[in-house]
Amino acid sequence: MVQAAAIYARISSDRDDTYLAVERQLADCRALAARKGWPVTEEYVDNDISAYSGKRRPAYRRLLDDIKAGDRDAVIVWQTDRLHRQPKELEEFFEVIEAAGIRDLATVSGDIDLATDVGQMTARILGAVARKESDSMRRRIRRKHEELAAAGKLAGGGTRPFGFDDDRRTIRADEAQIVKELAHRVLAGDSLRSICSDLNTRGISTVTGVPWNTTVLRSMLMSGRISGQREHHDEIVGPAEWGAIVSPAETARLRAVLGDPLRRTSRMPRRYLLARMLRCSHCGATLVSRPKVDGRRAYVCATGPGFVGCGKISCLADDLEALIVEAVLFRLDTPALANRLAKRATKTTEASAVAGTLAQDQRRLDELAELFADRAIGKSEWLTARRRIEARMTTNKKKLARMTQTTALDGYLGNASALREHWADLPLTRQQAIVAAVLDHVAVLPAVRGRNRFDPQRFKPVWRR
Ligand SMILES: [Zn+2]
Repeated sequence: MVQAAAIYARISSDRDDTYLAVERQLADCRALAARKGWPVTEEYVDNDISAYSGKRRPAYRRLLDDIKAGDRDAVIVWQTDRLHRQPKELEEFFEVIEAAGIRDLATVSGDIDLATDVGQMTARILGAVARKESDSMRRRIRRKHEELAAAGKLAGGGTRPFGFDDDRRTIRADEAQIVKELAHRVLAGDSLRSICSDLNTRGISTVTGVPWNTTVLRSMLMSGRISGQREHHDEIVGPAEWGAIVSPAETARLRAVLGDPLRRTSRMPRRYLLARMLRCSHCGATLVSRPKVDGRRAYVCATGPGFVGCGKISCLADDLEALIVEAVLFRLDTPALANRLAKRATKTTEASAVAGTLAQDQRRLDELAELFADRAIGKSEWLTARRRIEARMTTNKKKLARMTQTTALDGYLGNASALREHWADLPLTRQQAIVAAVLDHVAVLPAVRGRNRFDPQRFKPVWRR
């Protein structure tokens, strides 16, 4: 006996010939519920123009959550393709309703008993058909976008881009000036984070009026738009019909600097080899990268909001980095490294043990889910056990990540001359990892007054044991 049915409707433009207004879907579903005598507790509606893109559908997720919580006991949709487009989603849906003990799925075109194999197979076949339609729709849309992109025409709507008027063509002088400034600062090595907080302090807001964050800033600076170029699938495809604020060459450099995925999690710009490795001998704070006004890269003990330093120490980056690289390469060429080699060997064994535990835990989670599905254990037992195992897995994943750090040295251990030869060609992240594998930190002493030349005596490396 159904007591709390759910109606799910989805607006989608991917079937242009039989486009279904959401009201029509809802009306049909309500009528069906009335015929079946199912009281409808809630209607879930997603405005989803592109299910095939794998975009999240909030109402659908909410529906699944409510089913999981045991608050719904039947689902009505206009047709099963409203529910899911990806086979993966369909399997998840089966899992959820099976776990919740739901049998009743009604569609306007006919009911499917999901408790039976035949019913599930029917749903799978319908899903496969929908998927095929979705693929051909995707091809159609892609073609249209490619045509637009090739023509350098405007595509899409929404809020105006920063630096441009509402017509998305005319450059706004005041904002363009800011875009230029930001581009130069990033290229000089300023971090996105510090630029954002600077913009917000200066009261410069985004086009939507919300404060700047690194995601918004990054995507603006990486866009081809600011250099008058049209993009397609993140690739620059040619000149656009609007003007340029920065040069295409600057865009190319910005994309190289900001495109590094490792930079995303890092506070420091990637151009700084010794990010997080320098310590102020005066106050103990970690130095941060901050270019001089003339653009030369430098590290400073920073004061002010968000910083804990004393402001008394700064040093230019180039000479210091060259010095430390030499010291690291020299270090890797000494017998001290033989000891590290031996230590690393034991670490590898340890790492494979941790990896084994992780795999075991994953199997345990799967078994638990099966036991729950077979009703051998209850929901709260399942959740309690799962929480415990997941906590252990998180700890082990972190442990494993720490251990694999030293793999940066793979291939170069005991072969320092090869490392020296290739050093300049290694990506900065790799160089950083190699330095970090042997160097704990460098203590930076104050400059001696009157001494303007680079002074190696100011830098005391502290090696890892
Ligand atoms: Zn300091």
